[in-house]
Amino acid sequence: MDHSGSLPTGTVSSLVARATGTSPLACYQCGRCAAGCPQNVAGEMDLSPTQILRLLQLEIAFATDPSQAASLQRRALGADTPWLCAGCQACSSRCPQGVDVAGVMDVLRQESLRRGLYSGSPQARSAMALHKTFMEGVLRRGRIHELTLVALYKLRTMNLFEDALLGPAMFLKGKLHLLPPAGHDTTAVRRAVESLKRRREEWHGPAAGEKGSG
Ligand code: SF4
Ligand code: SF4
Repeated sequence: MDHSGSLPTGTVSSLVARATGTSPLACYQCGRCAAGCPQNVAGEMDLSPTQILRLLQLEIAFATDPSQAASLQRRALGADTPWLCAGCQACSSRCPQGVDVAGVMDVLRQESLRRGLYSGSPQARSAMALHKTFMEGVLRRGRIHELTLVALYKLRTMNLFEDALLGPAMFLKGKLHLLPPAGHDTTAVRRAVESLKRRREEWHGPAAGEKGSG
């Protein structure tokens, strides 16, 4: 269901409601999403998922005050949290109000790129680099080859030796394959990506200011 109609237009909250089918106002701040989130630990997310929902609620409350609303949007879109979200869905499945918190993180990632307001922290940049490398691999071959993914990601970030010792252990457990799998027809994936881009542009207009990965 589209819940965006009752929310102020142009707000991030209205986009969230449109994309996820639930208004941020449905959240009653119980904290279950934050409590179950594996990334909401010291040294990872800077804001908990519950706090992100709170910022969106405040954005709605201050929608008639453009400078306050913009400041709240910058805080939510510029957080590390959406980039450190692992997409595990624990939050969405725990929410008693049916808020799709993982979907909220998707919207914040896309919108932060579109507005050029994404976090510049090393963790966030690293996650963006992985996202971009992953998508390029999928669009090129239709499948991911883990070794190629790791090599390209490391070249992109120049973070060549971090976690290098994990490689042999993963190889021995059969998690890394030397040869890439056979390539697949990527037409359907490309069509899906193009369709999502078109829908996003219908909602917002062309993403002229988009920077980074997409
Ligand atoms: S679990 Fe749902 S209602 Fe509770 S804080 Fe998170 S989003 Fe809000
Ligand atoms: S989907 Fe993201 S925000 Fe939700 S619990 Fe998993 S890591 Fe946390």
